[in-house]
Amino acid sequence: MTTTHSLINQMIQLQELVVANMQKKVSQPNARLEELGKSIAALSADIPQQTKSHFNRLLQKHPEAIVPVANELCSGCGMGLTKSMVQAVRKAEELSRCPNCARFLYFPEQLIAAERKSRSYGEARKVGVSRFTSPELMMFPLKGKTGEEVLAEMCTRMEREGFVEDGEHLLDMALQREAIISTAVDNGLAFPHVRGVEGGGLSMAVGISKKGVKFGGPGRTLTRIFFFVVIPTATSAFYLRLISGLSRTFRDKDARELLLSATSEEELWKMLIKATKKTFK
Ligand SMILES: [Zn+2]
Repeated sequence: MTTTHSLINQMIQLQELVVANMQKKVSQPNARLEELGKSIAALSADIPQQTKSHFNRLLQKHPEAIVPVANELCSGCGMGLTKSMVQAVRKAEELSRCPNCARFLYFPEQLIAAERKSRSYGEARKVGVSRFTSPELMMFPLKGKTGEEVLAEMCTRMEREGFVEDGEHLLDMALQREAIISTAVDNGLAFPHVRGVEGGGLSMAVGISKKGVKFGGPGRTLTRIFFFVVIPTATSAFYLRLISGLSRTFRDKDARELLLSATSEEELWKMLIKATKKTFK
């Protein structure tokens, strides 16, 4: 018997694949998506028919069919939920749905640092790519020799700079995501990410590996440029825009070389701003 917990995890994974599918379509217009299609079919097979058809109907309307509860609100539509409803979602004895938008609900991971949550309110309005990242999240050079080591480095930095509470937990979630399907695309780029966390803004670390690491890219290509993104649910619409902007920009060889020419974290920040100036206004 499938427990509600594992069903919820399955639905989150399935949603992740559907998003990955959209993401591949925007970042690699010519990508072969059969593998992804097969994984989606395999995961869907285990979900009860009625749940699945509701889930698919929701996905046709919204990018997300299963969303976390945040501050006692449905993070899909913003509807306030009763205490007993929130309790039921937390217990997960059965699947809960938002009474307003009908999305499935789950209880989120607590990851975003409380300090960041409050800090973001008082900040001056940022422009360009600095809406999503900041100089202290530029990483050069990445020392990791494997994908996991690289992700661990990036999670540690996120924690050290106060963007997340728990870097190790972030790493677990990032690895779970990679296990579904690699976030590497061609041209030596990868977009590892963690979604469905509560609070704060979207934040991105950018790291350069001088030699490149195996990260599951097409063929046997090595990945050299990592864009690691933490995505609270409320910002998930931004995320696809960010990814499509970055992949459009760095499909261009000159833009990639500009980024790879950086020899320090300060330079990497300058090159990133320069390369994406036209993309993010
Ligand atoms: Zn709702």
